[in-house]
Amino acid sequence: MLRIAAIAPDSLASELGLRPGDELLSINERELVDFLDWEFLAADDAFVLGVRTARGEAVEFDIERPEGLPLGVTLEPPKIRRCANRCDFCFVDGNPQQARQTLFIRDDDYRLSFRHGNFATLSNLKDKDVRRIIEYRLSPLYVSVHATDTAVRRAVLRNPKAPPILDQLRMYASHGIDFHTQIVMVPGLNDGAVLEQSLRDLWDLGGSVLSVSVVPVALTSFSRHELVRSPGEAEARAAVATVHRWQERARSERDFGWVYGSDELYMVARQPFPPADAYDGFAQSENGVGAVRYLESLIEAGLDTLPDMAGQRVLVCTGAAMKDLLPLVFPALARATSAAFELVWIENSYFGPSVTSVGLLPGADFKAALADRAGYDLALLPAESVNEDAIFVDDMPYAELEAATPMPIRLSYHFTDALAVALV
Ligand code: SF4
Repeated sequence: MLRIAAIAPDSLASELGLRPGDELLSINERELVDFLDWEFLAADDAFVLGVRTARGEAVEFDIERPEGLPLGVTLEPPKIRRCANRCDFCFVDGNPQQARQTLFIRDDDYRLSFRHGNFATLSNLKDKDVRRIIEYRLSPLYVSVHATDTAVRRAVLRNPKAPPILDQLRMYASHGIDFHTQIVMVPGLNDGAVLEQSLRDLWDLGGSVLSVSVVPVALTSFSRHELVRSPGEAEARAAVATVHRWQERARSERDFGWVYGSDELYMVARQPFPPADAYDGFAQSENGVGAVRYLESLIEAGLDTLPDMAGQRVLVCTGAAMKDLLPLVFPALARATSAAFELVWIENSYFGPSVTSVGLLPGADFKAALADRAGYDLALLPAESVNEDAIFVDDMPYAELEAATPMPIRLSYHFTDALAVALV
């Protein structure tokens, strides 16, 4: 069911009399199942929209609009498609009981893969989903491949019914659909010869596979460790070597690197990150692939926009994953602003110290880390640590933290976004 959550003021939808709570039923008599139907079918400039109003009346609107004019309708959030797998490293199993409720959703949704770049395994698709992917040409899709060998992949996903991924990718590719793919590397399961084979198979699919990332499995203190373990340094080094070997081939035959190790993989391997241009535009930076180099390049590009902050002290909060890396950009920031930057890195008490990413730091840990820090003019928090409703993973609202800290705080993705506006 598609329901309207909000209507933009002075929009076409508000002129028509559409209201929050109204149900969008059809376009040109074709049923609207979800936001994908809405996005694709309502893209025309003229169509007949069937609506059931919040009062239960069925109404049809004959809509004609100037090209490109948005209707001004915001939909209620979609019902997320649940996952059919049971990976041993599944993040959901690693959640402590009191975690934010949405973290318990085992989502595996091809629609969010297309719309937001969430990785999906494509193992829970029904025939009608396949038809929609092809009809709407949902490309690129972000696909968790893990292994191209069906038996290994089924073992990784713990799903004996997972369809052969190569057949799926081949079929979609024949309809013009491209993919960004990832391999979550579980030592002893899909590294070594299996990784090599997976890269060969993906390479043989040709230009439809736009990129591959190799990411070491992330486990929390709460994960079940019976079958999976984190890779050690030697295993990570071997994977980096495999990635580099394939990159060399890709650069000589396709003019770009094609396969990339995640930042975490280099850190476990104790090897330096490749330079920024080795990431070919950072296609998977949101997957932690080249994230540090990406950050550096954004800071570099925004340095001229920063205000003079002479005499001010700025505290930069991060998680363990970035604690050795963020200080590398402080001298450049200090030169541009004349402020002093200091780091506080926070160990994750919520998921356990093995979870190092900033996106999973709870509000309570920020609160504790900042509580006794007087004398700072500002603290910068990673913007990834709250969701779109400004709530941390432990359900603490950002506003609650803001009221509890001894200095102003700001959320920041790459420093320049938060510092461009001077403190008053
Ligand atoms: S694919 Fe695996 S890791 Fe992802 S939600 Fe499903 S069970 Fe969890």
